Amino acid sequence: MTQPQYIILLGPPGSGKGTQAANLREHLDLPHVASGDLFRYNLNNETELGLKAKTYMDRGKLVPDDVTIAMVLDRLARPDCAAGALLDGFPRTLPQAQALDAALAEGGHAISRVLNIQVPEEEVVNRLSGRLICRECQEPFHKIYKPFETCPYGKCYGEHLYQRDDDKPATVRNRLKVYNDQTSPLIAYYREQGVLVDVDGAQPITEVTASLKAALDDL
Ligand code: AMP
Repeated sequence: MTQPQYIILLGPPGSGKGTQAANLREHLDLPHVASGDLFRYNLNNETELGLKAKTYMDRGKLVPDDVTIAMVLDRLARPDCAAGALLDGFPRTLPQAQALDAALAEGGHAISRVLNIQVPEEEVVNRLSGRLICRECQEPFHKIYKPFETCPYGKCYGEHLYQRDDDKPATVRNRLKVYNDQTSPLIAYYREQGVLVDVDGAQPITEVTASLKAALDDL
């Protein structure tokens, strides 16, 4: 059996991780495991986990590591992740990265590649302030850069678009600070492991997708 592939999309909020994960769906044939989506799913269903996460999410803060790690590892243990996963939004701290490495190592596995999507901060703020999410299919759109045309899942007609509470300007600034302080150290962590590839995320969406595919070509 071939080794499962664990690919991480790393980058600040608004760098296009969700958009690119959707574009890579057919190319990779791996489940998209997005920690933010898992939290929002729990929130919408008013689970204990969701209610706990909400207080942090509303302020643009990270949900504590123990809760987050347990939730994502539980997701990765499900049968549909037997061949690996495309991780988006996790890990976001060094303890999360170490916990993931340790959990994969237990099964004799490791991270295959980390795609570091680089986007300047002004561009990120610009993107997040215009971002709209579909409540039905979780697909991200943008008022200017990616207006709703058709639902990729054939589920809806653009009537479920909403702005995430944490995409409001004050919270966006908080999230960027959190990224710089807590998540950006992961770049050096994975570069040292020799699995990180930098990708210019400021290019048009389709060109970023092409760069990401090229960075996965040898896997
Ligand atoms: P996202 O959709 O990835 O931007 O995540 C939305 C929010 O969920 C974040 O601002 C955090 O509050 C929380 N969250 C998502 N992923 C993580 C993570 N790996 N660690 C801690 N909190 C997270």
